[in-house]
Amino acid sequence: MPELFNDARQRLQQAIAHANLSEDAIASLQSPKTCLQVSIPVRMDNGTLKVFQGYRVIYDHTRGPGKGGVRYHPDVSLDEVKSLAFWMTFKCALLNLPFGGAKGGVTVDPKALSRMELERLSRGYIDAIADFIGPDIDIPAPDVYTNPMMMGWMMDQYSLIRRQICRGVVTGKPIALGGSLGRDTATAMGAFSVINATLPKLGRVAAETTVAIQGFGNAGAVLAGLLFEAGYRIVAVSDSQGGIYAPIGLDIPSVRQYKEASRSVQAVYCQGSVCSIVEHQAISNPELLTLDVDVLVPAALENQITAENADQVRAKYIFEVANGPITSAADEILAKKGIQVFPDILVNAGGVTVSYFEWVQNRSGLYWSLAEVNQRLQTSMLAETEAILAIASQKAISLRTAAYVQALTRLGEAIAAKGTRDYYVNHSDGKA
Ligand code: GLU
Repeated sequence: MPELFNDARQRLQQAIAHANLSEDAIASLQSPKTCLQVSIPVRMDNGTLKVFQGYRVIYDHTRGPGKGGVRYHPDVSLDEVKSLAFWMTFKCALLNLPFGGAKGGVTVDPKALSRMELERLSRGYIDAIADFIGPDIDIPAPDVYTNPMMMGWMMDQYSLIRRQICRGVVTGKPIALGGSLGRDTATAMGAFSVINATLPKLGRVAAETTVAIQGFGNAGAVLAGLLFEAGYRIVAVSDSQGGIYAPIGLDIPSVRQYKEASRSVQAVYCQGSVCSIVEHQAISNPELLTLDVDVLVPAALENQITAENADQVRAKYIFEVANGPITSAADEILAKKGIQVFPDILVNAGGVTVSYFEWVQNRSGLYWSLAEVNQRLQTSMLAETEAILAIASQKAISLRTAAYVQALTRLGEAIAAKGTRDYYVNHSDGKA
């Protein structure tokens, strides 16, 4: 498996050929600004001390403070956090948010920790990185296996360290601690806006469109619900344990209810009450990716569709809700097969967009209604979707490359505004 970061950077090289960028901008986007690795000692419930490894990477901060989630997962590594921070940089620029890109993570299996251990870990993580974050420096948020309660602990811990309430240091907080309405459903809402606006343009009707969703966390489960309500036929869903498949369509509200009660979608398979809703079969995560469906939504982790399995993918459209679910080698195979991929930095940008709204509300002290949040989110998502579709067709490039071109143009302008080689060479007399 190639290093994730090197693979992520391939997309930048491809887009550079189509964007009008200064050499300085190209040079400064090749590597992260800061990579921080910390050790977090946590007193466990049984009295022992465990030391966890944590990371925070700011990839770029030309357009504003670093922004990006914190992931708790056993596979978290510096390479992964660097890649995720890289994607955040382009995502924030693509949505024209006044942020750079950052990401954090702790190498831990959060399911093996008690709630109190998770609180000590979250506070310990903030103790370790407090000097490197802040409302105008770098703003963490939720990501895989982190949730609003943890964001509340993180904000509280930072405020204790600073001896003042600092709501704008973390987004995705509980509403009672300054969170924004609509932040919990924002990633799914944003993805839904993109899917539901583009599929009709491609001649697809909801009721005749089958969908498979890999990942049933905050993004995947909420998106499944939204698509189900809009009349799409969700034929398969999965979580880290495995998935379920029913060609005539799953009853998503029941699956969600069951998942909440049992913590696993596969458990749905054999439980009388839910099983009786519709005949369905258990499938594995790799099987879900190769189902004969119209739309495939990877909403779990990176590196799911690779050079090994891309050839077996049968979906017509892929909407990337996870960050980095398709490798660059797989991109080429999918393109040859005529499968259209809507890229992660657009499709899953709803989360960080509403994080931005939360940060604005925290700083202004004026809080918005859910309708206002969702309206603004939809406007932003649709505007950038249109822009990317236009760039892709004008330049005859993939939607992914078009998204990078759009983001790069904004990043390039910000980098150039600080002065480029051309500026200094042509004004060597020092006069403006
Ligand atoms: N973790 C989310 C992402 O990957 C949200 C980040 C944020 O809200 O800052 O986009």
